[in-house]
Amino acid sequence: MATGLGTVRNVAELRSLIAGWRGQGQSVGLVPTMGALHEGHFSLVRASLTNNDRTCVTLFINPKQFGEGEDLGTYPRDEAADTAALERLGADALFAPAAVEMYPEGSATSVSVPGLGDMLEGEFRPGFFTGVATVVTKLLIQALPDQAFFGEKDYQQLCVVRRLATDLNIPTEIIACPIVREDDGLALSSRNAYLSFDERRLAPSLHAALAAAAAQVVAGADPSDAAELAKRAILEAGFGKVDYIAIRDSDSLQPLVKLDGRARILGAAWIGKTRLIDNLSITG
Ligand code: AMP
Repeated sequence: MATGLGTVRNVAELRSLIAGWRGQGQSVGLVPTMGALHEGHFSLVRASLTNNDRTCVTLFINPKQFGEGEDLGTYPRDEAADTAALERLGADALFAPAAVEMYPEGSATSVSVPGLGDMLEGEFRPGFFTGVATVVTKLLIQALPDQAFFGEKDYQQLCVVRRLATDLNIPTEIIACPIVREDDGLALSSRNAYLSFDERRLAPSLHAALAAAAAQVVAGADPSDAAELAKRAILEAGFGKVDYIAIRDSDSLQPLVKLDGRARILGAAWIGKTRLIDNLSITG
């Protein structure tokens, strides 16, 4: 279905492009990203290309999801490389709006998902999920895709997006894609570019500790003991700080009561100035 990648910058153009596709009876997949694309993003694009006649990737570094002191100013940006990669993959469109297009003067409405959006990441990054939920809601309403693709890498984000799509009756199927990892287990992330050579070497310990804790829980260990051991292992490996290691129900993200095959271990920790997150399914 590929006819070359078109880049659109405003909502009106996006809508008319998608209306044209719809007019030909074609299905549409949307892949929201903040750019600096890597194999993790590409896996979402490939899933969309497989499932849909047309695929639109969005590139928007959403200022509303960065807190004060976070890395909005230094977040990696390379639209030319992203465009070339998407062309090679066969995506149909890149929607790359300016901040003023997404949040014009006077814009005041935001979307919050209390509960799911307040815990874990939400606790350590206040306002983060309101920023995410607002931009994702806008993108879904702007494009009204049949499907939208999100990575399990940002597992809590996936839960928040599912919740908002259900609650706001957005007629888009939310599709989860598995985490793409380096050979040593480190989950691919645009922020891995911040890691020094030495930091990069110890970064996989986060995944290793989560995997060890997941195995302990499967073997019958108490979830909070396993989480505590994982935290210690991460600090011993050389991480500076652990924000949280949590074992939760995989849908509600509430603390796990009983291992019944729907559990997830999630963690966030700092190496130097870089904050990494990761998670794994715990299959009992
Ligand atoms: P980002 O550009 O970091 O906002 O990510 C855009 C989308 O790509 C989100 O749905 C992420 O969960 C997903 N993503 C990022 N890294 C990975 C990865 N390593 N594996 C799978 N999906 C990913």
